[in-house]
Amino acid sequence: NVTMFNSAFEIIGEIEAAGGEAYIVGGAVRDALIGRPIGDVDIATSLRPEEIQNIFEKVIPIGIEHGTVMVRYHSESYEVTTYRKEEGYEDFRHPDEVTFVGDIREDLARRDFTMNAMAMGKDQTIVDPFGGQQAIKDKVIQAVGHPKERFFEDPLRMIRAVRFASQLGFTVESKTEEAINEQAPLLKHIAIERIANEMIKLLAGQHFSQGFHVLCTTGMMEEFPLFQSQFDVKSHVPYVSLNSWPEAISYFVEKGIGENVKDWVKEWKLSNQIRHSAESIRMAYKEFQLTSSITPWLVYRLPRSLDQSFVRLIQAIHGEDHRWQVQLSEQANELAIENRKDLAFQAADLIQLFHDEKKGSWIEEYMTRIERTVVEGNIKNDYETIKEWVQQWNRPVNN
Ligand code: ATP
Ligand code: MG
Repeated sequence: NVTMFNSAFEIIGEIEAAGGEAYIVGGAVRDALIGRPIGDVDIATSLRPEEIQNIFEKVIPIGIEHGTVMVRYHSESYEVTTYRKEEGYEDFRHPDEVTFVGDIREDLARRDFTMNAMAMGKDQTIVDPFGGQQAIKDKVIQAVGHPKERFFEDPLRMIRAVRFASQLGFTVESKTEEAINEQAPLLKHIAIERIANEMIKLLAGQHFSQGFHVLCTTGMMEEFPLFQSQFDVKSHVPYVSLNSWPEAISYFVEKGIGENVKDWVKEWKLSNQIRHSAESIRMAYKEFQLTSSITPWLVYRLPRSLDQSFVRLIQAIHGEDHRWQVQLSEQANELAIENRKDLAFQAADLIQLFHDEKKGSWIEEYMTRIERTVVEGNIKNDYETIKEWVQQWNRPVNN
């Protein structure tokens, strides 16, 4: 995104005018050199957070103790972080202390991979002390410094290596891979939320099957909740990437990795929203299995916002096939009703019809039967037609 870069260059200009130094760093530099769409633009600076707050109008302190503020500029956000190094990762989680430093090269040295350890000045010159440009040319993921030490400092970097391999189609350089082989068990110490963040990016990567292979061969997979040595690459690698947690969970549960959606959400500490979506997709898939087709009743009960995920799930399990997408959209367009409110015959009508019956679970049962019959096109959505039909039913049995 050229405008984001240009705005970042303007921000750098202002910092320089105030006597500081600043560069675009990390993922944005890497992606620009690869020629891939950039995510966020992060900026590193020699100035302290308070000084940055004085230069720009809208600055949100998001992590002052780590030297990070968010600068709002032309309606976009830029993380601006003071050059720093990190020391003593004793709990495998956070560096014990963050020390501000004066030199961009020292800041780059704390970063994980050579391709992520480059900086770009406002004239587009690249600062590349560790051979990141060469690594990009060679398509390799290579730790900055000694891989064993770097993974010991922060074991999350091991899964990040594979995540980048999956996204970029790069190979993990041999010394870096060796270190992962040796130290995969350290992942035990990492908060599952951090792992989950990287894992979903890995699963969604274009080169996901390569990612799966590396996870298995290095022994990382066994460290993850629910995967403990039951993942067999040959029979378990999906046919297409899994682009969101609901798809991924439904896929793995179908493959026998984890018993149900609930366990997944609990073990991986995912959100309730993910849980609800995963349950909807899983239910739709069970329905799909009954007939190996996308029925109106399935489509009716699946929220439209999950259409894409559901199609992906089928493709992940059965192979890439365009017809599922086509079937689903056709069925969705042809639905007789979108939800129960659209029924010409409502619960109140039902109660009136059987007015001498006590209210009970029969109401829901009868409504579902009406709803399903209308959705399946076996009766017209018309008050009189439905009423006549329901009148022929047995009296409700209350329980
Ligand atoms: P993406 O485009 O997916 O966000 P990214 O490279 O920007 O990729 P981030 O997680 O946003 O990845 O991190 C930004 C930068 O911070 C990285 O490029 C890297 O230089 C550094 N970094 C992030 N996490 C770590 C880590 N665990 N150890 C060392 N450096 C890290
Ligand atoms: Mg980023």
